[in-house]
Amino acid sequence: MDRISFIKHLAFLPLGMKLKSLSELFSSAEETKKMPLLFLGHGSPMNAIEENEFVSSFRKLGTELPRPRAILCISAHWETKGSFVTAMTKPRTIHDFSGFPKELFAVQYAAPGSPELAQLTKNLITTTNIGLDHEWGLDHGTWSVVKHLYPNADIPIIQMSLDYTKGAAYHYELGSELQKLRSKGVLIIGSGNMVHNLRLLAWDKFSQDNYAYDWALEANSKMKEWINLGQHDKLIDFKSQGKAFDLSIPSPEHYLPLIYILSLMDKKDEFSFFNDKYVAGSLSMSSLKVISRA
Ligand code: ZN
Repeated sequence: MDRISFIKHLAFLPLGMKLKSLSELFSSAEETKKMPLLFLGHGSPMNAIEENEFVSSFRKLGTELPRPRAILCISAHWETKGSFVTAMTKPRTIHDFSGFPKELFAVQYAAPGSPELAQLTKNLITTTNIGLDHEWGLDHGTWSVVKHLYPNADIPIIQMSLDYTKGAAYHYELGSELQKLRSKGVLIIGSGNMVHNLRLLAWDKFSQDNYAYDWALEANSKMKEWINLGQHDKLIDFKSQGKAFDLSIPSPEHYLPLIYILSLMDKKDEFSFFNDKYVAGSLSMSSLKVISRA
């Protein structure tokens, strides 16, 4: 294609318009109805390519929710010192696992990034300085679930990292600072697992439907109860909740994305649990859908 025809071609592409509308959408004039919030239990990376009840729920969600202008995802699989948001225009698909079949490594989720949303997020947060990242991309905590919600990969998406040096109270406060994004057409997703102990997985029980250890059941049920009662302080203080919690959250990275979603819920929100099941004893897939009634 020569230069002239390239320019002519460009004139007919919606790309220019898309970029314009994307920066416009974050201007103060472009308020939207408050967007939902999601906490998604992602479980095994194989959920990216397997057909099962969990992914069919994700797919259904994608058709039911109002279409977002952009997505911000807090994934369990991006831990950093300090907090960052991805700010590249084309985030790569990161295959951050090993020992899985080649079909899983072949998955590409080519959704565009959104430097505008990254900048807006940075501007909104005053608790800490948010770094703009150009190296990361989309890890499987994001793409293995978002690909079911939005299979066309046509919604701009950024990730926000988890600062591993900070406790849950800090993450709760930081998360609450994202509130304004809900009125800018941004769908905020936390991707992790409420109960997540890979060391204690019952490998012989993978095919047994809804198999849970007693402690996993106990902790997951308490978490749901406290979410239902709005007792977020107990969920923030998860390290003081006894042995069932210690076993269910041996490290906080899969639990903390839930803390972000809780921090963004308000009194005008309705919420419900779905995919509320256990896998191989020590993993809960319980997911939370939050819809604004405002
Ligand atoms: Zn994970």
